[in-house]
Amino acid sequence: MRPGPDAECPCAWVPGRSLRECCGPLVLDGVLAPTPEALMRSRYTAFVLRDADHLWRTWHPRTRPAQVGDLDGVTWLALRVLDTGDGGMNEADTRGTVTFEASYLADDGRRGVLREHSRFERRAGRWFYVDGDELD
Ligand SMILES: [Zn+2]
Repeated sequence: MRPGPDAECPCAWVPGRSLRECCGPLVLDGVLAPTPEALMRSRYTAFVLRDADHLWRTWHPRTRPAQVGDLDGVTWLALRVLDTGDGGMNEADTRGTVTFEASYLADDGRRGVLREHSRFERRAGRWFYVDGDELD
C-alpha cells in the first residue's frame, strides 16, 4: 500500500517525519534536493510510490534510460544510508556519493537487500543521479 502524505516517509530519515515533511515536496512538487543524500532518499521514496517521473527527472541526462522501466513486482521495505561522501550544500560541490542498502520483497516472495554505491553530479544547480556500483 502506498503511504499517504501524513504517513511516515518511506525513507525514514527522521523517525516520525511524514512524507509531506520529508521527500514529498521533492517527489511530488519538484522541489530541488539540496544534497545527494536528499536526492537519493527522494528517489528511494519514488520507488516506493512507483513514481517513474521523479526517477526520470532526477537521472542524469547522460546516463538515464529513454524511459524508466517497470516499477511493479517489488515492494521496497526499508532504506539505510550507510555513508555519504562529498556533495554538501556548498555551491562549489559538483559531485557526491551515497552508499545505501535497501531491502525489498519481490512478488514471488523472495526477499533481498540491494547495496549500492551511487554517484551524483550537480548540473545547473540541480543534483542528478548518475550511476552506481552494486556491492556484495
Ligand atoms: Zn523521506
